[in-house]
Amino acid sequence: QELKHRLETTIENIPDFPIPGIQFKDISPIFLNPKLYEEVIEDLVKFSKGKVDSVCGIESRGYLFGIAIAVALEVPFILIRKAGKLPPPVVSEKYDLEYGSAEIETREGHIKKGQRILIHDDLLATGGTTEAAAKLVEKQGAEVVQFSFLTALKDLKGEEKLKKFNAEIYYILE
Ligand code: 5GP
Repeated sequence: QELKHRLETTIENIPDFPIPGIQFKDISPIFLNPKLYEEVIEDLVKFSKGKVDSVCGIESRGYLFGIAIAVALEVPFILIRKAGKLPPPVVSEKYDLEYGSAEIETREGHIKKGQRILIHDDLLATGGTTEAAAKLVEKQGAEVVQFSFLTALKDLKGEEKLKKFNAEIYYILE
């Protein structure tokens, strides 16, 4: 409860960024407070302890927490990046955006068949990126068993895109 409150007052709501009409949640003030960061990680680790074989983090804010979660769980951390950033060989997944499309990738072989995977990102918005990440995981014969986020933009109903994976979904801040 306490953690939720402190997180809520730390994450900044920035109006009209990156474009007019959009309210951006800036998580960067969390890193000014190492104790708070530590508690955020502890909370996310508690959710996943004993339940996953690897953690996949989504570029780029998903890395800021994902890697610490994986290290604490003593499991591998796998980078999911926008296309063109990782060297070959890679596995890719295309997905639609409001305008146009995007593509994400992992290094081939980092996700192993049969693994139970946590997909982590800082924030769930429309769910498009996370859905593509989950498809990318399944394509490699692994199973998405958990999603975790610091928070969500609930109005965008991203969770509906994740239901089909039958995985647990966790937010520190609902
Ligand atoms: P989605 O595919 O769910 O629409 O977008 C989610 C991705 O966009 C996440 O990787 C997330 O980091 C980023 N994102 C979208 N809106 C925000 C926001 O308001 N704050 C932050 N920190 N990230 C956002």
